[in-house]
Amino acid sequence: MLPFRNAIPIRTCTKIYARYTSYKTYLQQDFNRRCGYCDDRDIICGGARGFHIDHFRPQKPFVHLENNYNNLVYACPYCNGGKSNDWPSGVEEYSVLDGKGYIDPCDTDFDNHLERHDDGKIRPKTDVGNYMFKQLKLGLRRHELAWKYEQLENILHMLIHELKNFSGDPSIEQQLKDHKSKLIDEYLRYKCEFEETLQ
Ligand SMILES: [Zn+2]
Repeated sequence: MLPFRNAIPIRTCTKIYARYTSYKTYLQQDFNRRCGYCDDRDIICGGARGFHIDHFRPQKPFVHLENNYNNLVYACPYCNGGKSNDWPSGVEEYSVLDGKGYIDPCDTDFDNHLERHDDGKIRPKTDVGNYMFKQLKLGLRRHELAWKYEQLENILHMLIHELKNFSGDPSIEQQLKDHKSKLIDEYLRYKCEFEETLQ
């Protein structure tokens, strides 16, 4: 089991805009260019243009929070579509009631409800986690594939750097090159499968 996310987003923007859409660049930075709910990178959806702005407390019925930065979440279209106007408690005060609802992704408690398996799958850890998992469709294979090829990308970057500076035994250098070649094959396989989920 792995921690669900490497970093917890923090809302830092103090500017006041009349329309929530003006906050997108700030949200992109504060959410580390990732979906607040599934942690997918925005680059896999075409960057900020492909990402949405979710209202943690939905615009309906909480219209007075529509342009409140502290109510906004940078989200991929899949999570935003899954959550939509769902708010089980029906009242502003409670984001969770009887094990149903949502934890704000900027709350450190968020990661207590979901976890990541080392095969890339997201799994719920609690009743609330299970509710979010189902509503946000966090079991979609695209999330698993996106995570896997990001991990491979990171390993490849390290390996390429290591090879660039390598000055040791030529047989070890060859082993590293062979390893790199296998990883590239694996990376491309996941990436191709992921791209098929976009069609
Ligand atoms: Zn998402």
